[in-house]
Amino acid sequence: MTAKLIDGRAAAATIRARVADHVAAFQHRVGRAPGLATVLVGEDPASAVYVRSKNRATAEAGMAGFAHNLPDTTSEAELLQIVTQLNADERVDGILVQLPLPGQIDAGRVIETIEPGKDVDGFHPMNAGRLATGLPSLVPCTPYGCLYLLRSELGSLAGLDAIIIGRSNIVGKPMAQLLIGESATVTVAHSKTRDLPDVVRRADIVVAAVGRAEMVRGDWVKPGATVIDVGINRIPTNDGKGRLVGDVAFDEVAQVAAAITPVPGGVGPMTIAMLMRNTLVAAHRRAGLADPEGL
Ligand code: NAP
Repeated sequence: MTAKLIDGRAAAATIRARVADHVAAFQHRVGRAPGLATVLVGEDPASAVYVRSKNRATAEAGMAGFAHNLPDTTSEAELLQIVTQLNADERVDGILVQLPLPGQIDAGRVIETIEPGKDVDGFHPMNAGRLATGLPSLVPCTPYGCLYLLRSELGSLAGLDAIIIGRSNIVGKPMAQLLIGESATVTVAHSKTRDLPDVVRRADIVVAAVGRAEMVRGDWVKPGATVIDVGINRIPTNDGKGRLVGDVAFDEVAQVAAAITPVPGGVGPMTIAMLMRNTLVAAHRRAGLADPEGL
């Protein structure tokens, strides 16, 4: 392998330690810890694992956690009522409703009901619009984690050619806004993009957020590029347990790229670290304090 491995676990541990320091200072100053409410609807095993990790990280940071586990028969009206209660709860600075939601619930309506100042996922149209217009906002955790890794690896991103594969509201689009904000030259590819390998080959930065196991091959990538793999895909193995792989064919691309994130251990841990960071930031803004430094 020639590429440097970008260690998301180590970067996330650094961020979470900084957050914990700030939490202690906030508690001292404001008289309470920042609070994060998580809402899990139903029994989806992957979602349950994610929410457990988020709740654990909240406790480890010294923040107050408010976990709501609801049955998958929960109606939209019931969920909206809980969100409305959390909006009004002074102890709660951040609200995270784990997606996907069961079919009877319109996720868009739920997201729009979350108070934008508590929207620590950064999915509310108000936060999306503020990010797009360069105003302070709460930024979606996964792309913000990717940006942190890119900045740590490359320093300035100005003038670099970046391709984002995927245009979802939770990863691809906010990633594009963040990279435009860094003065990269940004291309966003999706399922209708023609000659995708050719488009990817031009890029200094590749962010893959597709949800297709090992789609990006070694001969798609420009030698020396920096590759961020957002994908989490479980592929079958002989022992029946399955194995997690990204959207990038790691072994091939690692021969060509200058640096690459592994799956697992790359972007995943950064998402949780940035959720902690966003909750801390939301708490500061709600308390009328300046944003915490160094995050
Ligand atoms: P999504 O909403 O399903 O979006 C996938 C995007 O990929 C869409 O824009 C789609 O294009 C595009 N796409 C699909 N097939 C393609 C193809 N053959 N060529 C080019 N583009 C293609 O997925 P998402 O929520 O953004 O998540 C993407 C991946 O990241 C998933 O594996 C997910 O599990 C993972 N993820 C990881 C984290 C983390 O913490 N590490 C967080 C969030 C997501 P169209 O728009 O044209 O359909």
